[in-house]
Amino acid sequence: MRKGLLILISGPSGTGKGTVCDLLRQKHPEISYSISATTRQPRPGEQDGVNYYFYTKEKFREMIAQGQLLEWAEVYGNFYGTPKQKVLDRLDAGEDILLEIDTQGALNVMKVMPEGLFIFLLPPSLEELAARLKGRGTETEESLHRRLGAAVDEIKLATKYRYVVVNDKVEDAEETIANIIEAEHHRSDLNESLLAKLQVWKENK
Ligand code: ADP
Ligand code: 5GP
Repeated sequence: MRKGLLILISGPSGTGKGTVCDLLRQKHPEISYSISATTRQPRPGEQDGVNYYFYTKEKFREMIAQGQLLEWAEVYGNFYGTPKQKVLDRLDAGEDILLEIDTQGALNVMKVMPEGLFIFLLPPSLEELAARLKGRGTETEESLHRRLGAAVDEIKLATKYRYVVVNDKVEDAEETIANIIEAEHHRSDLNESLLAKLQVWKENK
């Protein structure tokens, strides 16, 4: 059995992480998705337990104190974190799990799980990023400026990731990511049991 792969995707707010990951999940339902916990307010249409677990700051602090989060970060004034148990369970079961998280959280995951697959999704340009964020219509003027200001610093961290993918067309970005995942499935460190089996075969010959 192949080991499960932790797939982590970051990129500035508005790049299209959610859009590309939705398509990836649609085309690859075998990949589990890590639902993050957050203290931010739900946006119209977002559901608790589907898009995020929406928690109070008190509940979130309790989760940190009890070691229930794989990583957490304060992003644009709210807390976001990855519930740990589901990630560990899926990987143990040999399944891939997708995390869509910010750069601070990603750098922490790189420390504890360096064997993960780290992908940075880039916008085609900063102008296009601003247009997408505005077009999404979810941000106030202040929050829009805050997210655009943070984008440049976040993009500087792209060199810490193994792969960079430009989200020009959603379908192309999804296909590139799916191809990267497929290639990573052939990593020798994820296929130890296959190699061990062949070793037995050689010894028995
Ligand atoms: P993120 O999750 O990175 O914050 P979203 O997935 O919410 O970004 O995308 C931000 C906005 O940009 C949305 O309105 C989305 O429909 C749009 N968008 C995403 N990808 C593309 C693309 N490749 N081309 C044009 N618009 C896009
Ligand atoms: P949004 O509020 O637009 O849904 O997300 C804001 C930022 O928080 C995005 O960059 C998103 O990737 C990040 N984020 C979402 N979930 C998590 C998480 O579990 N941990 C961390 N560190 N960041 C997250």
